[in-house]
Amino acid sequence: MKGAVFLGNRRIEVRDFPDPTPGPGEVVIQMKASGLCGSDLKFYRSPPGEAQKALGLGDQADPFIAGHEPCGVIAARGPGVSEREAPIGQRVMDHHYSGCGVCKHCRVGWSQLCKAGITVYGVTANGGHAEYLKVPARTLVPLPDELSFVEGAAVSCGTGTAYGALRRMNLAGGSTLAVFGQGPVGISATLLGAKMGARVVAVETSPERRALALEFGADQAIDFSDCEKALKELTRGEGVDLALDTTGAAAARLAAVRCAKTWGTVCFVGEGGEVTLDVSRDMLRKQLTLIGSWTFSAMGQAECARFVVDNGIKLEPIFSHRWKLDQADEAYRVFDRQASGKGVITF
Ligand SMILES: [Zn+2]
Ligand SMILES: [Zn+2]
Repeated sequence: MKGAVFLGNRRIEVRDFPDPTPGPGEVVIQMKASGLCGSDLKFYRSPPGEAQKALGLGDQADPFIAGHEPCGVIAARGPGVSEREAPIGQRVMDHHYSGCGVCKHCRVGWSQLCKAGITVYGVTANGGHAEYLKVPARTLVPLPDELSFVEGAAVSCGTGTAYGALRRMNLAGGSTLAVFGQGPVGISATLLGAKMGARVVAVETSPERRALALEFGADQAIDFSDCEKALKELTRGEGVDLALDTTGAAAARLAAVRCAKTWGTVCFVGEGGEVTLDVSRDMLRKQLTLIGSWTFSAMGQAECARFVVDNGIKLEPIFSHRWKLDQADEAYRVFDRQASGKGVITF
């Protein structure tokens, strides 16, 4: 089979690999769609293994197949995997992490929190930018019939991450939500947040992405410069109920904290980097709740897919680019400019 490998420093190569054979407890997914996620840019841009190390995801530096938004159909089952667990031909997403499988985190579907060490498919082991992907059967999440493979890919990280963050923030209908960054996660947060009944203000430096945010349900889309003042003006000086940072940039994180109202809630989902807060002024003096949110559980992924179906949300339009595997290099060059919508490789 062919698979797209990140070689570090923005280099990608499509290489030949042996077709994977499932071992005990494993399945092979025939890929139908594999999304490009914002966090992939960190792995794409850095020297081999460096971004993974910086993000606390291990220090394995050998090249491997990228892509952590896998969606496809079950092609093969290994020993010990029952027909009921993984019917051949079933449409599936993958919760792209595996841990020990038995600890309290793994057993409730939060395998990425496993303390025994985790594998992240497409980040620390072979991922979805290939014709086939081998994973433990327990990582499978059924794809509802109503969703396309491309939509399933979105739910598998970017959109699921936005959903997980909004649920953790206890978004109430009618509240004002500021979403910093309108990349794949941010635009999903805008879309889902609006569907959940929030008044969404998108904050974004790229005019193209601001225009997209308005199409996806934002009430307002404002530039990052002077956004704290603008957000105060939009809330009669009070600040927003909820602020979500999807950028990972220190300035945006700080602005998210500062634009939140007294008793407000701020959530960070953007990966990497640091932020410096004036704790008394920025947090204590306004009883701020600050949440870190790392993607979603396997059950949360299924719940996000269900939410998308039940609310008639169309995720296809968040994809501005569809690519074939041999175009992976061009796909990431376009994505690297961070001005377009989301990209996906289809098979
Ligand atoms: Zn575990
Ligand atoms: Zn991701």
